[in-house]
Amino acid sequence: MTDPAILKEWDHRYLWHPFTQMKEWLAAEPLIIERGEGNELIDALGRRFLDGVSSLWCNVHGHRKREIDDAIRAQLDKIAHSTLLGLANVPSIELARRLVAIAPAGLTRVFYSDAGATAVEIALKMAFQYWQLRGERQRTLFATLAESYHGDTIGSVSLGYSEGFHRFFKPLLFPALRLNPPHVYRFYEGMSDEDATARALDEARRELRGHASELAAVFIEPLMQGAAGMWAHGSGYVRGLREITREIGALLVCDEVATGFGRTGTMFACEQAAVAPDILCLAKGITGGYLPLAATLATEDVFSAFLGEYAERKTFFHGHTYTGNPLACAAALASLDLFDSERIVARTALRSAGLGALLEARIAPLRHVADVRRHGVMTGIELMRDPARRRAYAAEERIGHRVILAARRRGVIIRPLGDVIILMPPLSISETELDHLIGVTAESIREVCGE
Ligand code: PMP
Repeated sequence: MTDPAILKEWDHRYLWHPFTQMKEWLAAEPLIIERGEGNELIDALGRRFLDGVSSLWCNVHGHRKREIDDAIRAQLDKIAHSTLLGLANVPSIELARRLVAIAPAGLTRVFYSDAGATAVEIALKMAFQYWQLRGERQRTLFATLAESYHGDTIGSVSLGYSEGFHRFFKPLLFPALRLNPPHVYRFYEGMSDEDATARALDEARRELRGHASELAAVFIEPLMQGAAGMWAHGSGYVRGLREITREIGALLVCDEVATGFGRTGTMFACEQAAVAPDILCLAKGITGGYLPLAATLATEDVFSAFLGEYAERKTFFHGHTYTGNPLACAAALASLDLFDSERIVARTALRSAGLGALLEARIAPLRHVADVRRHGVMTGIELMRDPARRRAYAAEERIGHRVILAARRRGVIIRPLGDVIILMPPLSISETELDHLIGVTAESIREVCGE
């Protein structure tokens, strides 16, 4: 291996890191990961870190999981890549069948791509073209939840606009309707979950009915708006939106890029609401967090609208070079096998309960912890200068950032969203590791925010 000091120099000279102020990056020591083992990342100097956010919310079974490593190697002995444009390949067929079998009822067709943003971009274009093909050409409007995040391509940014991240691109974006979800802590202070849900659904009904004839689709991150800072809502809200979209004839799209594959305690979050969307977006955990792969699943109704003679030009003209990549599909198949053989969903339910108890005992009582939100293992810990008066820290204080650096000094990698500390461990996390994760998070919050 190249000397770590030289790697640092090359990183600083040649790389441009995502979501990173490079001026700050270039002034700091980079943590360079060389290996992984189980739920740990190991850097170029041999130091071990617990992977507390699953390598940006995607790792499921830990690193170097033998079954997935073997599946990729076996596929590599056959072929690494061939295209799905005009050809088929073995693992993508097998995986499509498996995905349809586990997806909510009615989702029968799988369209592959390679990132969460592309899965959403595809859903958006599919929904748009669907209504054009169905002859309801005025259905061109999309609705999303306030502070939703759907990825960084221009269509996904139009849906999941965030002032902080995307303000420069505003002139490039199409307008979308924004619905206020029942985030009790933010929008519905002092209300019960039930009352907030009823109120948010009343608002959504009024707003969506007002645009009923123009509405193409409503996009939601069911149960947990991850990148907003883990804003949770209950299954009743998801169910309510399904009923409203049915009533006005619009499509419902669930973006389960973050919530899919067990993160919220069920295979897919929309299961908890007993909701089947018209389109489902999957990515991140689909390969167990190994390789870039995404899938947009659609109903037969959506799919069949695109059928016709070639000359009718109904074809969905969308595709990417690595669509349906065989190595990634082989990893995904191995990951799904593990979900069965290791009973991952049942195990996650147990782990989530443990996590809930630890958060309650050791995080919630801390003086500057204002709110703890969780579904399954997806957790947001909101820090404030004065929780009782809802007084936030000044942004310049970079409290969240300082907390995660304190955690890193203690051998745990986590990532904040502003002053919300995000915990999103791999589903394979052990009880001992979970205890360590919470212990270090608590100590780091205390160190930075004070007792
Ligand atoms: N949708 C959701 C709900 C996400 O959380 C993310 C990523 N955090 C995306 C889409 C975008 O995924 P990707 O980064 O793979 O493009």
